[in-house]
Amino acid sequence: MLLENFHPQSKLITKTTLVEKPHFPAIDAHNHLGEDFGGGWDKRPLSELLDLLDAAGIIRYVDLDGGWGEHLLNAHLDHFKQPAPERFMIFGGVDWSQWPEKGNAFPEWAAGRLRVQKERGAQGLKIWKGFGLHVKDHAGKLVDVDDPRLASIWETAGELGLPVMIHVADPVAFFDPIDETNERWEELGAHPDWAFTSPPFPPFLHIMDGLANLVTRHPNTTFIGAHVGCYAENLAWVAALLDRCPNFFVDISARIGELGRQPYTARRFFLQYADRILFGSDMGPYPEAYRIIYCFLETDDEYFNYNTTPIPMQGRWYIYGISLPDEVLEKIYFRNAERILLNNG
Ligand SMILES: [Zn+2]
Repeated sequence: MLLENFHPQSKLITKTTLVEKPHFPAIDAHNHLGEDFGGGWDKRPLSELLDLLDAAGIIRYVDLDGGWGEHLLNAHLDHFKQPAPERFMIFGGVDWSQWPEKGNAFPEWAAGRLRVQKERGAQGLKIWKGFGLHVKDHAGKLVDVDDPRLASIWETAGELGLPVMIHVADPVAFFDPIDETNERWEELGAHPDWAFTSPPFPPFLHIMDGLANLVTRHPNTTFIGAHVGCYAENLAWVAALLDRCPNFFVDISARIGELGRQPYTARRFFLQYADRILFGSDMGPYPEAYRIIYCFLETDDEYFNYNTTPIPMQGRWYIYGISLPDEVLEKIYFRNAERILLNNG
């Protein structure tokens, strides 16, 4: 039998809890409505999307797919934000592809675009993981995350009160050789383009050092490190940056598989940084995906699948709930997002 055909079923008899709705109304601080994430939501009646969010107990949904083209940003603002302004927040982006053409003027130009995006209604800036892995300057050189030439972009975001949702690097194992010791081997087999084996890519920690420098250098800009500060495998590293930088926050999107396999460390992390963690899914507006996260945060259920697929996608392990107290859940589900996303500018 091949490993891919092995679908073992746990014989544990333990409690399983169905958490249909979050214990508090939730703000999803990290999700998508763009074409690349399926759904085609901009071509379907908005009521279908709102029904799903209602069923999942999501009162507000951050759509990170506003992009940078006028057409795309306007389409998302027109289709989602305008008819239901209290339910959606649309984030814009930086069009790195303009760097070769704009040359040395690129950073100022990109900062100027942020002003235009904000005027149009964007409520934050999303930085995609290509930054640090693929983005090149006009000389064709790979750009570091902490490249000082880009300071005006981050300072402008701070001045405009646009929180910066930043995703750099990716799971640590994506940077390792793809061999029998790689814990994400099956996932990389399914998505070979997700491998950033170093070299030729920069080492994982080089990118993370860049993130730490960036956040430290711009204390007046709010940064939200996507996917548990981009380093869910090492909560001590994330905690150290949170300790050092009051302008740094993290979301928990797409990392329940990491958090839930280190339940003792994760629970301590949530208790200690309850004011700095934002709820997010990254899995689209689907109640069945949300419910797994609710179960992780709210129950002490043991050894359950962290995906909706029979074999969890990130690796063949299961997770444990961390049964957070109400006062922590309330902050993570909505109080922190309210304070950080809504009162920012
Ligand atoms: Zn995402």
